[in-house]
Amino acid sequence: MTSAPDNRIDARDIRKSFGDNTVLKGISFTVPRGTATTIIGPSGSGKTTLLRSLNALDIPDAGVVRIGDVEADFSGKVPRDQLRDYRAQSGMVFQSHNLFPHKTVLENVTEGPLIVQRRPADQVRAEAVELLGRVGLADKHDQYPSQLSGGQQQRVGIARALALQPKVVLFDEPTSALDPELVGEVLSVIRDLAVEGWTLIIVTHEIQFARQVSDQVLFTDRGVILERGTPAEVIDDPKEERTRQFLERIL
Ligand code: ADP
Repeated sequence: MTSAPDNRIDARDIRKSFGDNTVLKGISFTVPRGTATTIIGPSGSGKTTLLRSLNALDIPDAGVVRIGDVEADFSGKVPRDQLRDYRAQSGMVFQSHNLFPHKTVLENVTEGPLIVQRRPADQVRAEAVELLGRVGLADKHDQYPSQLSGGQQQRVGIARALALQPKVVLFDEPTSALDPELVGEVLSVIRDLAVEGWTLIIVTHEIQFARQVSDQVLFTDRGVILERGTPAEVIDDPKEERTRQFLERIL
């Protein structure tokens, strides 16, 4: 496969079925380093399954994906060690944050680097403090998740994903579980990450946000990427009738 070194992700022909339901029918795309890609498309078109496949939370049935420095060929069984290395290349932010309720904000962020990565405590703590400042929660270290708003909790979730130092951050509808007035603060943090040069893939229904933040938009429909391009191409001037219909419904 062609694999430009500046691509953080090279995905080739990802396929995934659940029983008789073929959800991903051969998905290929690249994400250049330091760019943001948004995935839009109707409910049930396979967006979440695609993200989960990239992180190998769902193991694809076929396809070759390189993320960061690690390539996985899912047409065969990927050895456990390689799968662990592959997973560590990407960090996931979910619809709802899944924070540990009995741990403080700071402990939630340091848990992965300390326990999973076994990195030095002083360094991990300093990085976590820095990350919490970056997501606007410098004064919340010692609070528990239940003491925070949904938007603040989601920002802890983002800091937690970043603390694992992934090469790519994957967001699965990061604002869809939030009250409308809390959406902006989370999108603003993601926008900052894009400006700072993180490599991001974001599944979202927030089309205006997608227009602002994306270098690349992928429109998925029925398990394929039907249309791809810049926001100006896909959102403002879609070529495919189904993209147009989707955007008319959502805008
Ligand atoms: P989207 O994110 O675009 O709404 P999903 O990837 O969530 O789409 O779902 C696509 C299809 O895959 C749906 O038909 C859904 O029912 C099916 N699906 C997703 N995850 C599972 C699973 N773990 N088991 C069985 N079917 C699943």
